[in-house]
Amino acid sequence: MRHVYLHMPFCTGRCAYCGFVSGPPPERPGDYVDVLAREAAARGFALPLGPLESLYCGGGTPALLGVAGFRRLAASGFFTLAPGAEWTVELHPAAVTRDLVAALADLGVTRLSIGVQSFDEAALARCRRRHTVRQALEAIETARAAIADTGIDLIAGLPGVSAAAWTQTLRRAVALGLPHLSVYALSIEPESAWGRAGRAPPDPERLCDAVAEAAETLGAAGLARYETSNYARPGFACRHNLNTWRGGDYLGLGRGAASRLGRTRRAGDGTEETLAEEEDALERALTALRLAEGFDPEAAARRFPVLAPRLPRWRRLLAGFRAEGLLTAANAPTTRGHEVLDALARALL
Ligand code: SF4
Repeated sequence: MRHVYLHMPFCTGRCAYCGFVSGPPPERPGDYVDVLAREAAARGFALPLGPLESLYCGGGTPALLGVAGFRRLAASGFFTLAPGAEWTVELHPAAVTRDLVAALADLGVTRLSIGVQSFDEAALARCRRRHTVRQALEAIETARAAIADTGIDLIAGLPGVSAAAWTQTLRRAVALGLPHLSVYALSIEPESAWGRAGRAPPDPERLCDAVAEAAETLGAAGLARYETSNYARPGFACRHNLNTWRGGDYLGLGRGAASRLGRTRRAGDGTEETLAEEEDALERALTALRLAEGFDPEAAARRFPVLAPRLPRWRRLLAGFRAEGLLTAANAPTTRGHEVLDALARALL
């Protein structure tokens, strides 16, 4: 096992758009480390896991584990890291403290990802984010002083954010000079507060414009769009997520964590299914369509011989997508290609 995701499913409140598995933190958040270890053992994984090439602590709000919880996690004999491994922790701006990020750096965390979502104060309040713009800016400065590889998440298409306000959010993000940014297009999840209230999804055209503007602004600032929703300076792409998009295996532990191990796909709710060889190969091969490195049909057919009979059809379809300006010469999505990725992948099935 080389790539592990640990889900910390607790938050101090509920963001209005959130459809993730999350609830109030336990009385002693550090005990959650034991829950994760028990889950690993119950699923037949010998501890320590590793040596890991990447470890990703996502949420929820992993920071609620606190300094003591992270020390316990690192000292528990739960995992070992390979030399040069990447260890990412997601942070909520209101939970960032000097002590916490210093402790994370000390324990070997190499990357921080802060959920900023917007630099528009009114948008943050509408989203029930439980932090202000100022807190976000302070959190970024505190975090990057301890761990230079600190990035942020933004959400495009938030209600009430004008085109001018979105431009302003992007400018502020760029001015920070961060090595990594994620820009997610808002979707209204049925189980979120907005979904239950029947809020309409963002206008598709305006959403595409907002994402395209992000790609242009961030690209001009040296942050290349290496995946549909992710931008980085050279050498700062998230290796954990790249493994997933390249169709690699990963183990997820925690209440809402998904896993992909061999042909077994496990959803966040714990349900498992074993895919047929061809279905598994197709899913793993076609996620490369999201990446700037592009989809190489010959390489996919070599890696998954079961897909080889599809090569002539793939070559024909890919040539058509390139001619339409949806893919580059390397079969990487153009800005328009990113907008219709699902349709491209469906056509290649
Ligand atoms: S969006 Fe993140 S911080 Fe907000 S409630 Fe959901 S998991 Fe928690």
